[in-house]
Amino acid sequence: MKRRDIRAREVSSQGVAAVPRARLALPVSSIRSIKGMNDALPREAAAFHRVEQAAREVFGRYGFGELRTPIVEEAALFQRGIGDSTDVVEKEMYVFPDRHGTPLALRPEGTASAVRAYLQHNPAAEDPLTRWFYVGPMFRHERPQKGRYRQFQQVGAELFGAANPEADAELIAMVRDWLAALGLNGVELQINSIGDGVCRPGYLETLRVFLRAHAGELCDDCRRRTETNPLRTLDCKNPACQKVLAAAPTPADSLCEPCRAHFAAVRDFLGKLAIEHRLNPRLVRGLDYYTRTTFEFTAEAGLGTQNTVAAGGRYDGLVEALGGPATPAVGFAAGVERLVLALGEDTHAPPGPDLFVASHSEAERGPALKLASAARGANLWAEIDPRGGSLKSQLRRADRLGAKLLIVLGEDEIRSGRVKLKQMGMAGSLGAGQSQEINLTEAVLEVRRALGIAKGGG
Ligand code: ATP
Ligand code: MG
Repeated sequence: MKRRDIRAREVSSQGVAAVPRARLALPVSSIRSIKGMNDALPREAAAFHRVEQAAREVFGRYGFGELRTPIVEEAALFQRGIGDSTDVVEKEMYVFPDRHGTPLALRPEGTASAVRAYLQHNPAAEDPLTRWFYVGPMFRHERPQKGRYRQFQQVGAELFGAANPEADAELIAMVRDWLAALGLNGVELQINSIGDGVCRPGYLETLRVFLRAHAGELCDDCRRRTETNPLRTLDCKNPACQKVLAAAPTPADSLCEPCRAHFAAVRDFLGKLAIEHRLNPRLVRGLDYYTRTTFEFTAEAGLGTQNTVAAGGRYDGLVEALGGPATPAVGFAAGVERLVLALGEDTHAPPGPDLFVASHSEAERGPALKLASAARGANLWAEIDPRGGSLKSQLRRADRLGAKLLIVLGEDEIRSGRVKLKQMGMAGSLGAGQSQEINLTEAVLEVRRALGIAKGGG
């Protein structure tokens, strides 16, 4: 047993008692988040939310419902579902024993869990077509860099029960619509077919023969993969390997007739949907269960080499490989952090509050709180400065937050019931800097009117 395994086992059986005393004595302020696992502060979280919300909306139009699976599964699920010879299972999974010694894994991807849920709940008994999407964190022990983390968010979708090329085209169209809804520019779609159980074995042998002949020029990983998972060599990032592999036979050269027809039909449907795409004969997926169509969306902006934002394909063999009935399926997964990076974080500066209520003195704090609360009750974003402070400092804060409207409450305002509704920076019905006198009792309605939410008099 490796030392790391022993330590994990001890932690699981002894709980916190296994944490060395010296570490427990450290002040918490010296504890940092785990390398490659990042906090998202509100501004970044809002960007995540926009990406996820757009997915929910667009996927809903295609009839996809949300699936939420646990973040932890039995490690065997991924070992069998993803394949022993993939990077994900070989090097990237977080595996640890639970208190009974059962190996568990933090999920590295969503498809294996979706298939597990599909087999466990058998939705096909009700409807032969199952359309699920998911959103959530995935975990892979990779070298952290821009666009590559150890905990990252994926949005993905799986469509079970349709073998036809329309299904591939629809799924690709759905991703395209989502990326378009996000306003992502410079997106390119690449597609390929890697064949199926009929034609792939023959292709892999042809590829092996080629790779063995060039073994001396390949990296250690590719030499090993020549025997274990030769398809993976095609997407090796090592420049020396890429040079050799430029001359390698590609899956497209060996497709059997049904695979060829399927691929041609997918491309034809994409054409009908006006979805531009580029054929990339070296596009393979790192995961063993893919058959036929593979695709990737890349975005150019701000990502460097980590420029694949969404990737997917058909995996007709996986459900059966995990012990279920033969079930065709097609799916994809996208990296939310990469999308946020590609979208550029500053493109959506957060909007300011609709209303800021300032008070001259202690005496107006109560009425100010009450007015802000009433505004929130009318679905407005309203703020006061809960620290009180001078009027000047409150106004400075209103300005810094980018509040659209301002009401200042003083002794006179409370006595007369008349207040000034002042337009801050934004151009609205009153224009920047202008103000209007209104009744305090109608303030919320007037605020809504000034924001263009409520119309007419009354
Ligand atoms: P790569 O070749 O970039 O490692 P992959 O083939 O491992 O990608 P998939 O397993 O297909 O990626 O995951 C789908 C998408 O999830 C990727 O295209 C990417 O946008 C995102 N993704 C994958 N791994 C990470 C990671 N470690 N950090 C951030 N995003 C990731
Ligand atoms: Mg990877």
